[in-house]
Order: sequence, then structure tokens, then C-alpha cells
Amino acid sequence: MITEQGFGSVYSKPYNIQSIDPDKPDTSGDWEMYVGLGIGMNLYQEGHRLMPGVRWMSSAYSAYSQQLRKKLHAANPYIWNASCTWCDAKLRTQSIYSWQDADQQFFTDHTVHTKV
Ligand SMILES: [Zn+2]
Repeated sequence: MITEQGFGSVYSKPYNIQSIDPDKPDTSGDWEMYVGLGIGMNLYQEGHRLMPGVRWMSSAYSAYSQQLRKKLHAANPYIWNASCTWCDAKLRTQSIYSWQDADQQFFTDHTVHTKV
């Protein structure tokens, strides 16, 4: 979902997704068995491929989604927002209000220190 110019957010509710298993219709009650397979990672990366100019904000609350956002942020901190101590500290020292206000240059020496 594109929320404002150049920014998007993803609403991931695995417990609400309809099952594609013909033997188990309705929603998938056992979605947790698919966690960690990289399905979400591929979906997010495909979203970025389709909309390369969009930066993705994070409102990841579950432990599963926080791990995914951590990996995406580590791979490309400009495109993928995540809870990150490195970004928080640098934003503070440069008096930049938020991740959204940081330009690509901001992340050139980014190291991985994401909070989980
Ligand atoms: Zn960061």
C-alpha cells in the first residue's frame, strides 16, 4: 500500500490469508509452520522490484515480522525501514527527524545494529 508520495507500507496478516490448500479451505490456521522459509522476504523484494522508487516504512510488531524487516533493512537500509540502533543514533546526532527524512547518502556507512 502506497501511503504517501514515495513511501509504502505492507500489511501482513498471515492469519487472515485464505488457504490455497483444497483439502483445507478457509484461512490457514497453521501459518506459523511456514515462518522462516523466506516467502515473505521474496514477496517484499518483488514489491521493491515492481516499485523501485518506493521506500517501505515499518510497523512490524510481531517477532516474525521484526526479523524479516531486520534482514531487509540490513540489505538496503534506505529502502527498508526497521527498528535500528545505528539509524536512531545517527538521526539524533544529525538532528534528522526520522528515517523518512534521511537521504541515500545518510546510509552509506550503515552497519547492522537492528533491534529485535
Ligand atoms: Zn539502520
